[in-house]
Amino acid sequence: MQYIVVDLEATCWVDRSARRRNQMEIIEIGAVRLDADLEVVDEFDSFVRPVVNPQLSDFCTELTSITQADVDRADRFGVVFERFLTWIGEEPHRVCSWGAYDLDQFRLDCRRFGVLLPPWFEDTHINLKEEFALWRGVKRCGMAKALKQLNLPLEGVHHRGIDDARNIARIAQQLLPHIGANTTTPNTETADLPAT
Ligand code: AMP
Ligand code: MG
Repeated sequence: MQYIVVDLEATCWVDRSARRRNQMEIIEIGAVRLDADLEVVDEFDSFVRPVVNPQLSDFCTELTSITQADVDRADRFGVVFERFLTWIGEEPHRVCSWGAYDLDQFRLDCRRFGVLLPPWFEDTHINLKEEFALWRGVKRCGMAKALKQLNLPLEGVHHRGIDDARNIARIAQQLLPHIGANTTTPNTETADLPAT
């Protein structure tokens, strides 16, 4: 069994209204592959060129450190997502992310661009935020808080997909041994946006 720890970045604005939520588009897919021993064996990182709002807001660049030039050079979602699925490969795996947001955003962009989200992608998903709260007996919290609780430093640049994925993977290395192999996390989260 492998674990694919994925973290997305998306277009964003100070305004977090429902209207803006529906406009959010993936601009980075960052992922780390853990093998059955929970060792990091591989990474995937790619920027994505947004089309609904091709121009990044200053707020978005400040939050994520992703620049206009980064996304201008990148392929569109359909192309990058295909590459990502190929990278995940055929080995049995579980897709893991921190909270419900990343899977929701994959659903949104797949619908928007007429790309199939393979059923296994959703069926194998583990919501690490929920699992962490259950394991530690604490309220659901952001990645930064979870790292603190485990006395792990936040490495790299917070809100960069690849750095977030690496940090979440280090939490997953401690957390996964404590959860059942067949866990399908009940999604009880009401908000589908990441905590700040
Ligand atoms: P994260 O994985 O926490 O970096 O968040 C993923 C995406 O959620 C970011 O790329 C933004 O699009 C959005 N996001 C995260 N935090 C905020 C925030 N404080 N305000 C607005 N959007 C945010
Ligand atoms: Mg992130």
